[in-house]
Amino acid sequence: MPCFPPLCAPVRRHLRGLFHRKGGGSQGAAPGSTSSSKTALPTVEPKEVALQADSVAESSSPPSLVCAFCRETGLFAPGHFREALDAQLSYAGFSYSTAWSQVQASAAEGCNWCRLLSSTRTEGMYKETLRVTVGFRVHASNNTTPKGVQTLKLVLDDTPHSVYYVSTDPDDVAASLIVAKTCVRKLSSHSTYVMATNCIMDCIRNHERCPPPHSATLPARVIDCLDPAKPRLHVSNKDEQAAYLALSYTRGTTSSFGTTTDTLDAYLLGIDMESLPQTIRDAIRSTHALGVRYLWVDALCILQDSETDKIHEIAQMGSIFRNAYFTIIASSARSADEGFLQDRVPPSPPDITLPFRCSDGQVGAMSLSPIWRQYDGSSEPVCQRAWCLEERLLSPRALIYASHTLQYHCQTTTVNVGNAVCGPITGHRLPNLLFRSDFDDRNTSPALSPNDTKALRYSWIEAVGEYTQRSLGDPADKLVAFAAVAEVFQRAWKSEYLAGLWRHSLVQDLLWYKTSESRHPRPERYRAPTWSWASVDGHVWPSLLDDRLDLESVDTQTCDILSCEVTPVTADLPLGQVSSGVLTLRARMFKASWNPAASMPDLYLYDKLDQPTDTLPLHIGCAYPDSDVDAKEIWALPLMWNTKTQHAAGLIVTRLTDSTATENAPFRRVGYFHSPEDGSGGLWWMSASDEERRDFVIE
Ligand SMILES: [Zn+2]
Ligand SMILES: [Zn+2]
Repeated sequence: MPCFPPLCAPVRRHLRGLFHRKGGGSQGAAPGSTSSSKTALPTVEPKEVALQADSVAESSSPPSLVCAFCRETGLFAPGHFREALDAQLSYAGFSYSTAWSQVQASAAEGCNWCRLLSSTRTEGMYKETLRVTVGFRVHASNNTTPKGVQTLKLVLDDTPHSVYYVSTDPDDVAASLIVAKTCVRKLSSHSTYVMATNCIMDCIRNHERCPPPHSATLPARVIDCLDPAKPRLHVSNKDEQAAYLALSYTRGTTSSFGTTTDTLDAYLLGIDMESLPQTIRDAIRSTHALGVRYLWVDALCILQDSETDKIHEIAQMGSIFRNAYFTIIASSARSADEGFLQDRVPPSPPDITLPFRCSDGQVGAMSLSPIWRQYDGSSEPVCQRAWCLEERLLSPRALIYASHTLQYHCQTTTVNVGNAVCGPITGHRLPNLLFRSDFDDRNTSPALSPNDTKALRYSWIEAVGEYTQRSLGDPADKLVAFAAVAEVFQRAWKSEYLAGLWRHSLVQDLLWYKTSESRHPRPERYRAPTWSWASVDGHVWPSLLDDRLDLESVDTQTCDILSCEVTPVTADLPLGQVSSGVLTLRARMFKASWNPAASMPDLYLYDKLDQPTDTLPLHIGCAYPDSDVDAKEIWALPLMWNTKTQHAAGLIVTRLTDSTATENAPFRRVGYFHSPEDGSGGLWWMSASDEERRDFVIE
């Protein structure tokens, strides 16, 4: 077993079974294992145990976490605690009254429960008698893991106050009764690696929706982590098959590092760990500790001084992450220098530790964590970086080194490794069908159901929306860093990609817009045609599926798209950077006016401005300028409109340059508009106008 680290036997034992799914089907050899290995593997799964407290032996030694009153008369007296536990059945829980002055005195002396009551009671509710009701429940949210996590609801003076997640240490005597465990904070410990491996195993064996790992062709270069003290670059043979991990991280302010044409030969013999930034070192160590031999890291596996190599490898990014055994996401590290294996810091204020009376009479300890204190993954450094979105979306499985703990993320679930409570998940996932292997064939188009089509459309919209909120080191990479996401959709749609838009849904795709908060100046260097969202910086809202503009409806009409041609900078990266994009439309244009500096400009029909002062200009829509500084001489160009609902949406355009004011001069997009939401105005201005349909070009 050459791939496994010699000192990591438990991890090795777990990994032996990684490729054996439920039912005994083998999906190929595990990294470094023999295919005959069928060791029965212990599984670590949360036990769903109903909370139940039986009579508690009077002899149980009371913990000193609470005061004598709480322990003997209050919530933690044996019978009382059981009533609170039975709240799931009776719904009432346990209620008692206590003196407020007593609570405050005990809080000052260190009773954890009295401290909680004291800090929870709202100012101004002061009465000497405090009424306390406590009940345990199983949390009802489908999106919270582990399944069956329990909560404690606290009601003071008959007013609901707080709900807390209940957890305990895995070694605690109450561990079999409390589903959630305390958060793992030692991320590089042996036990954490074993638990992480268990999560991956559980996914491979039991998650029907997750794409199974398959024998993957190694990327052109990978890091061989067999000896983590002296890793080396490995140049793969053609079609060499082996399991590998991929790393997603933020380079941040770290000075440039990586493989160049000069260092390539030396790196094949060995890479000095000390020369690598901490995040890369941590990735090599954890790859080794997780029992996998190869690791893909962009800076080491792409020649940093070769444009040709960069283009070639970037074109492989989608398959590199899709085929990785799993991805290590260094979520919390702001730069490559920071690393991600450090012990995590407990939350502040800390969780509250209280006694937990078990059914067998023993007294354990539980931790309460306010349910509102949720981890927000979107604020992690890795979620600010544009490149990292496709790396996460395309990874069917990932270990996320978050700022508070280690998480396992797959197409089915997100869990905190070690079964700590993981709140509702907000992160976007690609539809499972995009991982289907029958989409690999470029020449055939597997049928998509209407639901599939809708799911893909929403997913694309969501991905573009999320992507455009992230920052790019090099603004020229706007389309390049999203090309792998586009590629995976193209496998399903078999449609032509037009600088961020799709041929098959082009009219709707043109209707993206920006709100005033995300308005920026247009980039100075050409990046994409103005009708593409890739031509602007900041958050873009792609067009939503608006019922009023449903193309299936007989009432919906559109302009005619005569042609749309995009030229990629290089044919080796057809979904990447473009050098030009020309859209030719046959439509009617209406000269309009607006105040582009306003946060929510109104759009008026221009010719009404010359009316006498007692005539208001004709309001035809709400406008959304694309950038901070834009043209005054504009035209409204309806792309889609519904004659029944009298609703229209379209583009606002101006001349491409001031000096091209000739009849056939091209235009550029400067904004988006739709009919007023209050329905005023209608669409009569479109039909009443003398404007003829004509052909024109937007660049
Ligand atoms: Zn107390
Ligand atoms: Zn899974």
